[in-house]
Amino acid sequence: MMKSEMADSAGPSGSTCDGTEPIELIMKMAQELEELELENKKTDNELLLGKLERAEREHERLLSELKEAKRLHKLLMTNGHERPEDDSCPICDLPFPHDASLWMYWPCCMKKMCKGCVLKSYKHGIDDCPFCRGKQPKDKGQFIAMVQKRADTGDPEAICYLGAVYREGRYGLKADNAMAKKMLTKAAELGVKFAHLLLGQIYYCEGESAKMHKHWVAAAISGDVYARHQLGCMDYDDENYGRAVQHWKISAKMGLEGSLNAIKDLFLKGHATKMDYAEALRGYQSAAEEMKSPERREASLLPAGDWF
Ligand SMILES: [Zn+2]
Ligand SMILES: [Zn+2]
Repeated sequence: MMKSEMADSAGPSGSTCDGTEPIELIMKMAQELEELELENKKTDNELLLGKLERAEREHERLLSELKEAKRLHKLLMTNGHERPEDDSCPICDLPFPHDASLWMYWPCCMKKMCKGCVLKSYKHGIDDCPFCRGKQPKDKGQFIAMVQKRADTGDPEAICYLGAVYREGRYGLKADNAMAKKMLTKAAELGVKFAHLLLGQIYYCEGESAKMHKHWVAAAISGDVYARHQLGCMDYDDENYGRAVQHWKISAKMGLEGSLNAIKDLFLKGHATKMDYAEALRGYQSAAEEMKSPERREASLLPAGDWF
């Protein structure tokens, strides 16, 4: 092709129409080709270099994620294995039952009390708050107004409570996720660990897994049993059964029946040992026993409508 084009462009004397000798033209074209190849080579090298830099950055990112995951796991395996002190009833001093229908908040002081103690107090003819002797609210409207009043003065528990109410839409307040997040974030900043559990649940529903994980870790290392259970569920979903068992053993030993059942399920599927289950069962039974009292049992038999 090149030869034929060259022949066509050469004049009768062998020179080209513009007077250039064919040999000069060939050399010029060869030089241009060489320059083009050099240019392409340079571009290829730049592309390769770019790819390499991107791969290095990705490697660095993964390495730092791995380091952070290891740091968090170590933190979780060494913290939050016991229920926090404020997870016990201030009247009878027993750890609260995990069934939320068996305890209540008093809006006068925002103290959480087991219904066993409240019932005992009623039986002694005391209708007021067993902790601060504040007046009992007449109805749900007055109850939430009292909580709001305390939240307005910056009471962390009241702010957290309102955040939970906005999340679910109760006491006549419309469910409002933005408001719930705002109040729960504030409560978490003020030191209410339970707020982290609720924030994690909101982010779970919104599919924000990084934020969800961050809040559940914060709650679990402070001894929140539900957050600990959820972390086990996340590992279970990732088929990381060994770590799921580690988390669930901790929450089962804090008396969470769901975690015990989850380990049993893993044992039946061959992903946990008999020793894992036996250890969790012993821990669970001991924790469950600590949460019991005759007053609590009696209160549990009353209809839910008898309480706020
Ligand atoms: Zn109590
Ligand atoms: Zn009170």
